[in-house]
Amino acid sequence: MASHFPAKANTSGLFRPFWYIFPRERVGVSLSVHPVSISFHTSMSLLVVGSIAYDTIETPTARRENVLGGSAPFFAYAASFFCPVQMVGVVGADWLPEYTEMLQNHGVDTTGIEIVPDGKTFRWSGKYHQNMNDRDTLETQLNVLGSFEPKLPENFRRAQFVFLANGAPSTALAALDQIQGADLIVADTMDLWINNTRSDLDALLKRVDGLVLNDSEAKMLTGEMNLITAARRILTMGPKFVIVKKGEHGAMFVSEYEIYVVSAFPVDKVVDPTGAGDSFAGGMMGYIASRQGTLDGDTIKNALVYGTIVASFGIEDFSFDRYKQINRSNIEERRETFQEMTAF
Ligand code: AMP
Repeated sequence: MASHFPAKANTSGLFRPFWYIFPRERVGVSLSVHPVSISFHTSMSLLVVGSIAYDTIETPTARRENVLGGSAPFFAYAASFFCPVQMVGVVGADWLPEYTEMLQNHGVDTTGIEIVPDGKTFRWSGKYHQNMNDRDTLETQLNVLGSFEPKLPENFRRAQFVFLANGAPSTALAALDQIQGADLIVADTMDLWINNTRSDLDALLKRVDGLVLNDSEAKMLTGEMNLITAARRILTMGPKFVIVKKGEHGAMFVSEYEIYVVSAFPVDKVVDPTGAGDSFAGGMMGYIASRQGTLDGDTIKNALVYGTIVASFGIEDFSFDRYKQINRSNIEERRETFQEMTAF
């Protein structure tokens, strides 16, 4: 991983470090030698609002029907390797309680999952190309997601860290209206919303600190073909930083004064990349939240690495199958291997 600009540059100079963007008072943590002690349930909370899905996945060699997916569960499970997570989403009567249990057992507060008794859970199906990087959406059945109006439980409304995972920008905006005083708000988006609900997306971009999106989506959103230029253009739309995911080529963090890049962890057996983007974001935000919000350049770079490492496990099997086999020490081991691979 390389930083194009010094992480700890002179704050009065051209390249101000990232944490300068977040005044200390706003971040709510002390960067001095006397760190403020913050308890998890008041100000260390990480909230995710997003889709909950039954996915049908086709790869060149296999197919799985109606497996657990959705941006919120992938994010929440990945983030909960690092800190407790509060999850908000909607499901139908076909929701299996064993999934709630799986999330709860991994440190996810599921009281924000709304069950619509006469509805059906959102369904998405996708088919991967031979390269296992590109995919086509075969079908989207919005079902209960189509009329989802998020209602955040009272104790979720003061979350310090918020991730608005892939879903309609209007849903994200409705969730934001219920959140008070968050220190860091990051959103994800995709081509569907860029093409179909642009004015809602523009309104959302003005209210978030960071945006996470794919390389093709960054180009689509801005009309710029160079990713740095595209990311810088997005900075003019509202966010203070942009994280561009480049699939098997890693990810890039861009703020006004910094660029950090991280390669993907080389995985020799990619079984199902679904959810990699959400898991990347989960690992990244979970790590930031676990660091008590210390948003300096080193934390951002480590967060990108943890996001990369967590996602690299998820793609080794379908749905949550690989995640269920690993724990934090597996993540640390792979992180060390990654460090040896990339240090120079
Ligand atoms: P990723 O591979 O990180 O892009 O995430 C894939 C997940 O996003 C799948 O589990 C899908 O259920 C979910 N998904 C696909 N399309 C949508 C959509 N339009 N809104 C919300 N979630 C979606």
